[in-house]
Amino acid sequence: MAHQHIAFIGAGNMASAIFGGLIDGGFPADHIIAACPDADLLDAVAKRYGVKTTIDNAEAIRQADVVVLAVKPQIMKSVCEPLKSQLKDGPLFISVAAGLKVDTLDHWLGGGQSIIRCMPNTPSLVGAGASGLYGNARVTDTHRTTATELMQAVGIVEWVEEESLLDAVTAVSGSGPAYFFLMIEALEEAGVNRGLPLETARRLAIQTAYGASKMASQSEQDPAQLKRNVMSPKGTTEQAIFSFENAGIKAIFDDATRACSDRASEMS
Ligand code: NAD
Repeated sequence: MAHQHIAFIGAGNMASAIFGGLIDGGFPADHIIAACPDADLLDAVAKRYGVKTTIDNAEAIRQADVVVLAVKPQIMKSVCEPLKSQLKDGPLFISVAAGLKVDTLDHWLGGGQSIIRCMPNTPSLVGAGASGLYGNARVTDTHRTTATELMQAVGIVEWVEEESLLDAVTAVSGSGPAYFFLMIEALEEAGVNRGLPLETARRLAIQTAYGASKMASQSEQDPAQLKRNVMSPKGTTEQAIFSFENAGIKAIFDDATRACSDRASEMS
């Protein structure tokens, strides 16, 4: 990807997280152009990252091999339609907008485009994201490599082979950060109920979530085994895990992710 030119349409949180990550990884800032109507924001990103900027979306895509669509879903149609007359060499489009199908984007872009739809999540903003990617039939292996490298700038990447599976990705990782915030919140409240000061309970809960995630990501053992490793027979952890299981914790996750996935499917 080193010699490609990348245009970002939208220069907000998600776009700047991605190009910031690329530049940190050694990608040349002068191969990146960011476009949006907010001149103050463009000044700020030009100063901070050294990328080129423009308030003209059409100018941004003129030299681009890759166009990242990083505007809110509700304005995507009005952003895409004016671009279609400018498209000559068919750049690769990567959309990070929630809920917009590749066929819808292709239609807005005049048809026949190579389009990858990406479902990122908010930890991408701190370089610890998890993204699900799906490409339409025009997407080549080279395109897939490019998109993988691009989104790896903000975290891990998983490809799905059916677009509908992006609803499942939404249910696991797209909305997932909120589930873990909820667990941290519940654990800190439980810690307070056991007598700890709030700040102490919060720091312990946050660090424990981070530590467990780090262990799970580095270990060759699966999470179920890691859980068993800390459950000595008749020990303290076993008591807690039995209590969670008796309350139906896995069924709760199954129901919650089904509700999330169904809603994602309704919205796209
Ligand atoms: P943001 O509000 O931070 O940025 C939106 C950008 O779009 C701004 O730079 C704005 O000036 C620009 N914009 C507005 N009108 C425009 C136009 N006509 N032409 C070009 N640019 C225009 O939003 P964000 O959080 O970066 O979200 C961008 C996309 O990423 C959304 O579609 C969202 O669904 C998706 N996303 C974001 C997150 C996240 O954690 N922030 C997570 C998953 C998906």
